[in-house]
Amino acid sequence: MPTLCAAVPAVVLDSLDHGESDKIVTFFCRDIGKLSAIAKGAHRSKKRFVNKLELFSFLQITCSQSAPDRLAVLTEADLINGFLGLRQSVTAYQAASIVRECVLLASSEKQRDDHLFQLLLWTLHALNSRDKQKPTIALFLIKLFDCIGYRPDFSLCQRCGTPWHAGQSGLFSPLTGGLTCPACLAGGEIAGRRLSAGAIQTITMVQRHQPDRLNRCKIGRAVLAETLDCLHQYGRHLFQRELASWKWLPPD
Ligand SMILES: [Zn+2]
Repeated sequence: MPTLCAAVPAVVLDSLDHGESDKIVTFFCRDIGKLSAIAKGAHRSKKRFVNKLELFSFLQITCSQSAPDRLAVLTEADLINGFLGLRQSVTAYQAASIVRECVLLASSEKQRDDHLFQLLLWTLHALNSRDKQKPTIALFLIKLFDCIGYRPDFSLCQRCGTPWHAGQSGLFSPLTGGLTCPACLAGGEIAGRRLSAGAIQTITMVQRHQPDRLNRCKIGRAVLAETLDCLHQYGRHLFQRELASWKWLPPD
């Protein structure tokens, strides 16, 4: 069977039992994007895949495929990082589950997106090693919308086009992916979520940061709740469904 990929870095995003001894595993891979593959004998071959096909495991995988329309077959998997910290903390694991669901929803099979792959890895490392889970989720979502081409536009009022000035609060509409200024709001009812000037400033600041500098971004407690609520509403609108894992958002 021809090789589809060899020693490609990949994160396990889903793993389902298939028949008595196989598993169908969904990875997010560098150079490839989302990829589903069957791990034959995953329940039996203890040495080959044991403790490797757990959710969030960071691996190097080799797959083969008999034809482009056939399911790939996982032939090798080497563990790079098992993210043990995620498995030892319920809240970290639940936060990672939100990340996992969003990446699954935001990606299509074999649509390469190396920025999203890097963001996924950064987020899992951050959740694995720090206890600031809620700010990490906020940073992840702001960058996720960038990756998939739906960055909220906070540069001007979506109604009148007036450039947004620092220190101005407004209303975020998931439908337009942007803000409405106080003057336009006075003209009538518009659906959306009010955002303070601080939250608008925070999201804009994170949007400007390079993904490899996310560690330097700080989201203050005062604006975290409204920032997360705004990102959640926007995600729900973009994905056209509720995020099943959002109920696991860690407590303060
Ligand atoms: Zn306006």
